[in-house]
Amino acid sequence: MKIAILTSGGDSAGMNAVVRSVVRSGILKGCEMWVVREGYEGLVRGNTQAAEEQAELVNAAAEAEVLNDAANAQKESKQAQPLLPGRKPDENLIHNLRFGDGDLLKDGTSEYVGGRTLKGRYIVRVGWDDVRGWYSQGGTLIGTARSATFRTHEGRLAAAHNLIKEGIDAIVVCGGDGSLTGADVFRSEWPDLIQELHNQGIISDAQVQKHSHLRICGLVGSIDNDMSLTDLTIGAPTALQRICEAIDNINSTAYSHSRAFVVEVMGRDCGWLAVLAGVAGGADFIFIPERPPKANPWEDELCAEIKKHRSIGKRKTIVIVAEGAHDAELNPIRAEYIKEVLTDRLGLDTRVTTLGHTQRGGPPCAMDRILPTLQGVEAVEAILEAKPGTPSYMIGIQENKIIRVPLMEAVEKTRDVARAVKAKDFAKALAARGSEFVEYFEAFSAVASLFDESTQIAPELRMRIGIVHMGAPAGGMNAATRALARYCIRQGHVPIAIHNGFRGLLDDNVDELSWLGVDAWSARGGSELGTNRSLPSIDIGTVASQFQKYGLDSLVIIGGFEGFHALLQLEEGRKHYPAFHIPMVHLPATISNNVPMTEYSLGSDTSLNALTGATLVYTPEDPITLDMLRRDVRFLKTRYAYDVKGRREGRIIIRNEASSNVYSTSVLTKMFQEEGGNLFDARSASLGHTLQGGVPSPLDRARAVRLSLQCMAFIETHHKILLDQGQKRSADPETAAVITIQSSSLEWVPVQVMHQHADMVNRRGKEVWWAGVKELTENLGAKPQFLGIR
Ligand code: ATP
Repeated sequence: MKIAILTSGGDSAGMNAVVRSVVRSGILKGCEMWVVREGYEGLVRGNTQAAEEQAELVNAAAEAEVLNDAANAQKESKQAQPLLPGRKPDENLIHNLRFGDGDLLKDGTSEYVGGRTLKGRYIVRVGWDDVRGWYSQGGTLIGTARSATFRTHEGRLAAAHNLIKEGIDAIVVCGGDGSLTGADVFRSEWPDLIQELHNQGIISDAQVQKHSHLRICGLVGSIDNDMSLTDLTIGAPTALQRICEAIDNINSTAYSHSRAFVVEVMGRDCGWLAVLAGVAGGADFIFIPERPPKANPWEDELCAEIKKHRSIGKRKTIVIVAEGAHDAELNPIRAEYIKEVLTDRLGLDTRVTTLGHTQRGGPPCAMDRILPTLQGVEAVEAILEAKPGTPSYMIGIQENKIIRVPLMEAVEKTRDVARAVKAKDFAKALAARGSEFVEYFEAFSAVASLFDESTQIAPELRMRIGIVHMGAPAGGMNAATRALARYCIRQGHVPIAIHNGFRGLLDDNVDELSWLGVDAWSARGGSELGTNRSLPSIDIGTVASQFQKYGLDSLVIIGGFEGFHALLQLEEGRKHYPAFHIPMVHLPATISNNVPMTEYSLGSDTSLNALTGATLVYTPEDPITLDMLRRDVRFLKTRYAYDVKGRREGRIIIRNEASSNVYSTSVLTKMFQEEGGNLFDARSASLGHTLQGGVPSPLDRARAVRLSLQCMAFIETHHKILLDQGQKRSADPETAAVITIQSSSLEWVPVQVMHQHADMVNRRGKEVWWAGVKELTENLGAKPQFLGIR
C-alpha cells in the first residue's frame, strides 16, 4: 500500500514525531510511504512534470552515492562486515534522497533542505532516514498551511488526481478539527471525484478500479487540547510546559514585588491550557470560554477571591485568562481590562503578560514524543484494516490507552461545545469537554479558592489526615501534598505532615500544614516533607502508638515501591494494632514507574523529559547477555555503514542502571568504542540523580492534584462507612488501597491484591505492561532484526 501523511492547520509540537512514526511503522509493515508538504495545499498543487524528471535524475545520482558510500565504508573499516550479502540498501530503509526539495509555496523562494533543492514537488516519497531524529524537533518539517482551494470542489478534484497519479491509496492527516473535517469530506466525495476524473478522460479504467476507495485516518495535532473523545491532543502538553515555565518565572518576580500578574494564554474556544496551567502553576483565578464566572458582575467575584487571598498574607496574585474568555453574556474578557479592575478596585500593582506564539514553539516534551509515536503506529494499523464500509477513525488517548474513535463523531462532539457556548448553556459546554476536563476544572477550585465556613463538612466527619513521603523523591510529590493539604483545610480536616518518612514519625517529626505554607510547593522538585526508605517494620508497635498519639483518622503515603510496601505492612499490622483500622491509601510517585499494576506514577513524566528516543534500550526486565551485545554491535556497524557519508549522526543507547552487574555503562561504552572502529565512536553520560531533581513537569503536577483529590474522596467515603459501622477494628482490606491507572481507567486496588501482582524481590510488578513499548521504540529506531541481524 502507498500511504501519504500531511500536517494541516496550526502547527503543534509533536507533529514531526507523528510523521516519523507513521513513516517508519508504515515501512515496517511493508508500505511505501509518502509525505505531502504544506498540508492540503500541497495535495492540490501536486508535482509538476519538470520537477518529477529532475527528481528522478537527482535520486538516481544520490542512490549511486549511497551504494558507493556503503561499499567504501565496508572496505575502509575492517570492523564493518558486509552483513547483508548481496543486498542493496533497501529503498525504504535508507533514503535521504527523495525528500530533499524546497519550494515553499508562500513566496515561491527555494529552500535548501537535506542538501538538495527542487521546485514543484509537494507529494514526495520518503524513506527511513528522512525522518531520523524528527521526534525531538518542534513545529512541522513538512510544512503546514490553511488551504482555501481545498475547500472548493475544483481543489479537491485536483487533489484526488494528484494522489492517483502517484498511486497513493491512503492518507493520514494530522491537524485540528477543520483538517479532520476536510479529510472526511474528501473521503465521502471520493467516489464522485473519481467518476468525474474518469468522465473527463483524465484517469483510466484501471485507475478507477484501483482507487475506488480512499482510506483515511486522523491524528489530532492541536495545542489547545480542544478535541472531544480524546484526553490529549498532540502538542498540548508542550504548550502547557511552555506556559508553566513562564508562570514559574513570573511567580518569583510577582512574589518579590508583591504584584499581580494577568497571564493571557492560547485557547480561542477551549480552556484546557488555562485550567491545567491554573492547576499546575498555582494560579489564583482563571477565565475560560466554557465556564464564565457565575457572578454578575464577574468583577465582584474576582475581587472578592483575590482580596481573601491577600487578607491572609499572600504576596502574589496570578490570574490566567484564555484568549477566548468571555462573560456569561459572551462579552470578551480581556487581560488589559482585568488589570484595570485589579489596579483600580484592589490597588494592586498589576502587569499583563501575553505568552503568544512562544506557546507553540520549542522542542516537544516527552509526552509529545511518546503520544504521537504510539498514535502514529495505531494510525497505520487503522489504515491497513480500513474497509470501504468502516468509518474513518481518529486516533486518541484515554488515560493511558491509545484508542480509535469515529472521526466525525469526535468532530461533532467538539462542535457541541461551541454550540453550547453560543447558546450560553455553560453547564453543557463544560460537560461536553469530557469528564477529565471537568475533574481538572473542579480540582482548580478545590486547591485555589480559599476556604470558609461554607466549604467545611459536618464536624463529626472531619479527620486528622497524615501525609508521608516514602522512598526517593519524584516530581509531583510536593504538588500532591499541596493539593491534599488545601483540600483538607477547605473541608475542615487537619492535614498532618509526617517529615522524613516513618523514621520521622518515630522521632515526633510531625506538624500541621497550613494553606499558605504550601503555596509555592507546586513547582518544587524533591520532597518538601523529606523522605526515606524506612518501612513501618522498623518498629511497627511504636508506629501504631504514634498513630494514636497524633490521632490519625487516615493516612496518605506518597512514594514508590516502598510506599506500597509500607501500606502492605500497615494493613497486615491491623491484626495486632487497632490504630491501623483507618482508611489508608498509597499514591504512587516514583520516576522509575515500578509500582505494580499502575501504568503511571507521579514523577515518571518529569524524568522522561530528561530522556529522549533511543536506538537501543537495555532494561532489567530483559537482562543484557553476550549474545545480545554481539547482535547489537553488528547492528550498529551495519547501520552506520549505510549512513550517507558526511551525514552520519549520533545514535542514543539507553541503559538502565540495573540492567546488568557485569555489562556496566563503562564496559558497554568501551566495547562500542572498540568495535565502532572508523565508523562510530562512543561516549557515555550518566543522568543519575538529575532525573529525580529539577522542576516537576506540568503534567506530573496536574495529575498530582487530580489523583490527590481522588485519594481524598476515597478516604472520606471509607471514613464515613467506618463511622456508620460504629465498631473499632472493623476496617476491611479494601480500605487500604493504591490508586492506579490501568489502560483507560482509574482503579483502586486493595494493597493485598496488589501484593499478589508484585515481585517483592526485584521491586516491580510481575506483569511488564510496557514491554510492547520497548519493542516499538527499538523497531522505530531500526531494530537489529529489521536489518536481518539476529
Ligand atoms: P487549528 O486547530 O489549528 O485551527 P484546524 O485543522 O482546525 O487547525 P482549519 O484552518 O480549520 O484548521 O483547517 C485546516 C484546513 O483544512 C483548511 O485550510 C482547509 O484546507 C481544510 N478544511 C477545513 N474544513 C474543511 C471543509 N469543511 N472542507 C474541506 N476542507 C476543509
